[in-house]
Amino acid sequence: MLKPDELKVLDKGFVRLVEMMGDDFSPVQAARVSTGKGLTTPERDRRLIFYLMENDHHSPFEHIVFKFHIKVPIFVMRQLVRHRIASINERSGRYTEFEEDWYTPERVREPEKGNIQGSRFSDDEELNQKSLALIEESISSSYKTYRRLLGMGVARELARIVLPTAMYTEFYWTINARSLMNFLSLRADSHAQYEIRECAEAIAEIFKRTCPMTFEAFVRYHYSGDIITRGDQNDT
Ligand SMILES: Cc1cc2nc3c(=O)[nH]c(=O)nc-3n(C[C@H](O)[C@H](O)[C@H](O)COP(=O)(O)OP(=O)(O)OC[C@H]3O[C@@H](n4cnc5c(N)ncnc54)[C@H](O)[C@@H]3O)c2cc1C
Repeated sequence: MLKPDELKVLDKGFVRLVEMMGDDFSPVQAARVSTGKGLTTPERDRRLIFYLMENDHHSPFEHIVFKFHIKVPIFVMRQLVRHRIASINERSGRYTEFEEDWYTPERVREPEKGNIQGSRFSDDEELNQKSLALIEESISSSYKTYRRLLGMGVARELARIVLPTAMYTEFYWTINARSLMNFLSLRADSHAQYEIRECAEAIAEIFKRTCPMTFEAFVRYHYSGDIITRGDQNDT
């Protein structure tokens, strides 16, 4: 069950903003320390945000910091942790048992011709049915083995080695807006895997709601694709 402040990701995951430091005016304030001037008019502040973004003066955006609570499958988190300019604390598989909680895709995807890392949703119903049943059978069997091992007295830290990367995990992720924009450029992009793109789009929606001007400037100058946020989806 999703909490009101959680944005859904895939079938059972979510992204939630726990807290944040700063807003659209934090980079303005930080940049104006150079000249000893504070905030001026909203219109001039907005122009400064766009000027900073257009001219790659990205350090002032480090003064906006987000702390997210994220739940995604392990294979998605593995891609997310490659973004090193962020802080992470994850739920422990040594202190806690994994629940019966894994990702089940709605449809399978086939390799995309001419794009070595890409894929497209399959419209082959037979392939969908057979593969999804096989995926479910395999994960469910691994999970049963995990529970059996625990029941036999094997430690959680070892029993978990039989679990697949489709299992959901949870973590706190703290990241500044500069690094977040780098993350979105790479993971809200059509070259990113569908599952992390879903996560990135939920994060983009929170970024847009909390820092609308910075988001607008980012999309204008540093995002070549067609960023889809959850808000856009709800509008249509
Ligand atoms: C479509 C796609 C496919 C990918 N495929 C693979 C793959 O096959 N195998 C694989 O291993 N990874 C893969 N990656 C991960 C990718 O190589 C990056 O590790 C990941 O996207 C994080 O990006 P980043 O380094 O810019 O982010 P961060 O780690 O958050 O770093 C942000 C920025 O800080 C600077 N920085 C950080 N660390 C260093 C450093 N050590 N030295 C110098 N500058 C630094 C860089 O300017 C960097 O852009 C893939 C990513 C994408 C989006």
